[in-house]
Amino acid sequence: MAPRSGGAGVTDPVYLSPPDIGELEESYLLRAIRAGRFDPDGPELNAFEREVAARVGVGYALGLSSGTAALHMALLAVGAGPDSVVVVPTLTFAATANAVTYTGAEPVFVDCDTATGNLDVELLSDLLGRLVDAGRRVAAVLAVDINGRCVDYDRLLPLCAATGIPVVEDAAQALGSTYRGRCAGTFGQVGIYSFSHNKIMTTSAGGMLVSDDATLVARARHLANQAREPVPHYEHRDVGYNYRLSTLLAALGRAQLGRLDSMIARRQALRDRYTRLFASVPGTRILGAGDPGSNCWLTSVVVEPERAGWQAGHLAAHLAALGVESRPMWKPMHRQPVYADRQAALTGAADQLFASSLSLPSGSALTDNQVERVFAGITEFLEGRR
Ligand SMILES: *Cc1c(COP(=O)(O)O)cnc(C)c1O
Repeated sequence: MAPRSGGAGVTDPVYLSPPDIGELEESYLLRAIRAGRFDPDGPELNAFEREVAARVGVGYALGLSSGTAALHMALLAVGAGPDSVVVVPTLTFAATANAVTYTGAEPVFVDCDTATGNLDVELLSDLLGRLVDAGRRVAAVLAVDINGRCVDYDRLLPLCAATGIPVVEDAAQALGSTYRGRCAGTFGQVGIYSFSHNKIMTTSAGGMLVSDDATLVARARHLANQAREPVPHYEHRDVGYNYRLSTLLAALGRAQLGRLDSMIARRQALRDRYTRLFASVPGTRILGAGDPGSNCWLTSVVVEPERAGWQAGHLAAHLAALGVESRPMWKPMHRQPVYADRQAALTGAADQLFASSLSLPSGSALTDNQVERVFAGITEFLEGRR
């Protein structure tokens, strides 16, 4: 962090989604260190897996070193490999596409729905038809719940079921969100969460795979644990990975999980306040607005410059000068140099969101003072544009 200046802390940077860690986490971590178990079979990791499974209502959970590792394991477990393709929304964080590439499968990108930023189910339907007609083996559709809002599973799941294609749910941003009363992460054959430093809850680095399929989770557990066979000596039939979550970090996760509901409530209150503020600003909207099930991980405002008379970048620059972080949504994967030559079904919606969106400070750890600074900064900007 930059040094505080001016005494009043006015120039303290305000981050988008800083970790929300305090004395409870400290006490859990200390307890785990003092218990002296540092191996993945220790009680903290087992308990954390059971607690997450119970929280989201799923049979099995596997703690892993990152959300990316969890995606990698999930994709291998559903059979993604060198002879297959996996459909990935183009509007996502690179980890989603990278995990596909690790397996040897080819990511094929699909554009998003303008209102939510989630994958465009209609477009996906056409794309799947074309891939199947071309004789491609589609190993999975990766559904990403953007900013914590669930994909339209009522439409997605029947489509994938009809074609026999597994759904892998990237709920990295969506722990604690619900869709028709069911928890994010539980809609596909397998789902994943991330506990990286800026997610809704954090273990500093970490992730989890969840599924109701005992065989699938056992397979992922085996691969993530160096593919070590259950015999007294070291025996390996597969190439394994060293992907288990540190049991110390699992202790941190248990403390965070106990506070998840209150952390979500704080993010939702921030979302409500942004919604009220922008409701009277022409040419603006909140991405994915009006979803009571969202954990509101990030709030992103979308700006139509012709109607607003200003661009998202203008607000970003104004906030940056006040030490307030904001950021456009992800640059679409089909625009990334590393994936530019891949097949993609596009409407222009993700390009448009990338150009016109701004994610605003949304974290549960923001102090009241920081929140006031953010809103004062936005209000000042809007008044200057009238
Ligand atoms: C954060 C994130 C990931 C990766 O999780 P890590 O724990 O950082 O590896 C994957 N997908 C999405 C959509 C994410 O936001």
